[in-house]
Amino acid sequence: MLNDDDLKRKVLETLSAISVPGTGRNIVEAGLVGGLVVRRGEVGFALEVPAARARAFEPLRIAAENAVARLPGVVRASAVLTAERGATPPKVDGHAEVKRIIAVASGKGGVGKSTVATNLALALGRQGLRVGLLDADIYGPSTPRMLGLAGKPDTRDGKLLPKDAFGLKAMSIGLIVPDDQATIWRGPMATGALMQLVTEVAWGPLDALIVDMPPGTGDIQLTLSQRVPLFGAVIVSTPQDIALLDARKAVAMFEKVNVPILGLIENMSVFVCPHCATPSHIFGHGGARQMAAQLGAPFLGEIPLELAVRETSDSGAPIVASAPLSPSASAFEAAARALRARMDGAAPPSAPVLRMVD
Ligand code: ADP
Repeated sequence: MLNDDDLKRKVLETLSAISVPGTGRNIVEAGLVGGLVVRRGEVGFALEVPAARARAFEPLRIAAENAVARLPGVVRASAVLTAERGATPPKVDGHAEVKRIIAVASGKGGVGKSTVATNLALALGRQGLRVGLLDADIYGPSTPRMLGLAGKPDTRDGKLLPKDAFGLKAMSIGLIVPDDQATIWRGPMATGALMQLVTEVAWGPLDALIVDMPPGTGDIQLTLSQRVPLFGAVIVSTPQDIALLDARKAVAMFEKVNVPILGLIENMSVFVCPHCATPSHIFGHGGARQMAAQLGAPFLGEIPLELAVRETSDSGAPIVASAPLSPSASAFEAAARALRARMDGAAPPSAPVLRMVD
């Protein structure tokens, strides 16, 4: 049996025999093939094509996938179409523009990235922006639970229709594939599927599409940050040193691919006792603000650790939608205002300081 390297060469040879119609060049020469991965006979690769012409390339994708699948030694082949990165605002649904795609990321899981992404999206919506939320967290999609969404999305003209939730347009990997399936995706399969969620959803006109990224700084996150034409990234961290180290890695990853850091948010910044409203700094305090200063990145705000944040998320009506006057919702609103200032290209207002209830 061929080893992976030999098989990779065979795959490239095979792909070199497939020509791009009307160009006289094959798909390898034309620079269309990217992200080729071969592992124990499983082959995955992407064809990078202009976003607006993705549909025209579908027959080519099928031809490439079938040709590779027929090779001896190939257990499974999977080819996905991904959009080329463009400098101009991406046309993600062919007729309507998404003005900015903003990643919400964290160096590791469990810091409240999804909670922040969702409430930030809701707060931007309350401030008058047209906002979409794409839950791309393949390791633990939480948007369906947080926004009370269920059931496969409808389709129209071959595009997925986002669900409406509290004025947001929402789509989640969790609405499309069974819970355990996406977690086993690797490399190009995961990025390809996630790219399709950006390009194959009828988002309609949006001022901002917030992408809840998979946690971490591995290949999937890196490739996604390269392939999705991101306007910028928001990094979420808790105040502990160890979490901040991971957040630093996330900042470095986005810098590597020239995605601007729009700011850092410190989550679970201070615990507000539900009985007496006394603040306690369980995980320390101010670490993310300090790190932002060290990195020269904007600091967008602090979100308290408040029982109601978790309870409202679990009940399908996040705190910004269900209790907009609570301390946490106010903190999310303030962070959203600071983010908007960055989105409009202005310096953020001096970082909002959390006002505690008396
Ligand atoms: P991640 O996306 O980073 O894995 P989640 O957003 O899923 O993290 O949050 C992990 C858990 O912490 C969830 O149960 C969520 O409700 C809870 N949580 C997140 N932020 C807060 C907060 N500020 N106050 C209270 N609970 C929070």
